[in-house]
Amino acid sequence: MRQNHYHADMISVEEAREKILENFFVLNSESISILDSLGLVVTEDVISPLNIPPFNNSAMDGYAVIASDTELASDEHVVNLKILETIKAGSVPSLKVIKGSASRIMTGAPIPEGADSIIPFEDTTELDWNINSDKSFVGIKIPGDVGANFRQLGKDLSVGEIVVEKFSTLTPSLIGLLASVGFEKINIIRKPVISILSTGDELVEPGQSIQQGQIFDSNTYSIYSSVLQLGAIPKIIGIARDNRGSVIDMIEKSLHSDFVISSAGVSKGDYDVVKDVMGEMGNLNFWSVNMRPAKPLAFGKLKNDNSFVPIIGLPGNPVSSLVAFEQFCRPAIRKMMGKSIDDRKIIRAKLTDSIENYDSRRVYARVIVESTNGIFTATTTGDQGSNILTSMAKANGLAICPEDIPEILPGQEVDVILLDNSIHLN
Ligand code: AMP
Ligand code: MG
Repeated sequence: MRQNHYHADMISVEEAREKILENFFVLNSESISILDSLGLVVTEDVISPLNIPPFNNSAMDGYAVIASDTELASDEHVVNLKILETIKAGSVPSLKVIKGSASRIMTGAPIPEGADSIIPFEDTTELDWNINSDKSFVGIKIPGDVGANFRQLGKDLSVGEIVVEKFSTLTPSLIGLLASVGFEKINIIRKPVISILSTGDELVEPGQSIQQGQIFDSNTYSIYSSVLQLGAIPKIIGIARDNRGSVIDMIEKSLHSDFVISSAGVSKGDYDVVKDVMGEMGNLNFWSVNMRPAKPLAFGKLKNDNSFVPIIGLPGNPVSSLVAFEQFCRPAIRKMMGKSIDDRKIIRAKLTDSIENYDSRRVYARVIVESTNGIFTATTTGDQGSNILTSMAKANGLAICPEDIPEILPGQEVDVILLDNSIHLN
């Protein structure tokens, strides 16, 4: 059968991914400002050089007292204590609290010697004071408990404790923790630089004027943004035209990076120059991957002096390039960054309409996933043509129709890859 012949030189999505990923490695580490470290992977256990809090301090604005002085205190029978001083956050107490005395203390200020309890202002006569009150004494209205409103030295972190574990991904709170123990720099796996290259005589940069027969280059922009979303560094190389000189020029400009992502010029019917030149500048394989969209794919390595730079040639159609990016470029970039290759959530959802698979490929259908009371539904976003970018823009998931299933009908269950890890479905 024609169809069998057609499938004979195709490789599966898994095979393609495996062949690609074995050429990617975790990048070297470097020391950077913690301000630039969000989302990056830490390369060593970070040990706390300090206790946090570094000293016992007050959790409230109030009075530092000796608990036993206040045992009998109540609203009716306040215990009057002599005020020694006011201790502000950032200052150091100068007097020891002794029987019959108290120091005013602000939140975060070090607790003075002698005191073993903090009485909040609300439980003292301070709030009742007027212009005529004697402010050298304060009346305590409640018995203080030993340790009340103390923030204990080392309660959060103690010296020698691990602040951030090796291989963890930095979050805002971990970055705050690093700052809290005084680190301004951190060793992380560096961000890969990704060259982005579009190819085609028909392409025009947005912002330029467009002539009959031309289209705006959208792949550069969607791929750029996808790279940025992964926390890597996108580097726009530009548009290579369908002629030798232009392709050579653009490939040369791409070489000083960790990975080159090009789009278009990889399918069978293409004007051959892109394929030929890329092939000459390294070793490039052109595959038919058993998927829809995004069947044609190129992968290889470009020669750069003594080393090689991996290159993936995505298909040109805007949806194909994004779906192939998701399957092949995303895991490669995550691998270089020291992250798990696949972090996407896959859920089971009930399909509300249908997905057709007329030639035994793995179909990735653009869907909107919704959930009501824990039941997920998936609805296709409309025209599934590989050039229909609006239906990709509406989607929050890709529903998978396996190779051997000709059709998924309304009401049947499908696996859906969630395209946004921050989606909270309930
Ligand atoms: P090709 O693989 O070169 O035959 O391109 C396949 C289809 O994708 C054609 O319709 C191209 O015009 C379109 N295409 C290629 N590159 C881009 C791009 N950068 N932005 C938008 N569409 C593109
Ligand atoms: Mg083309």
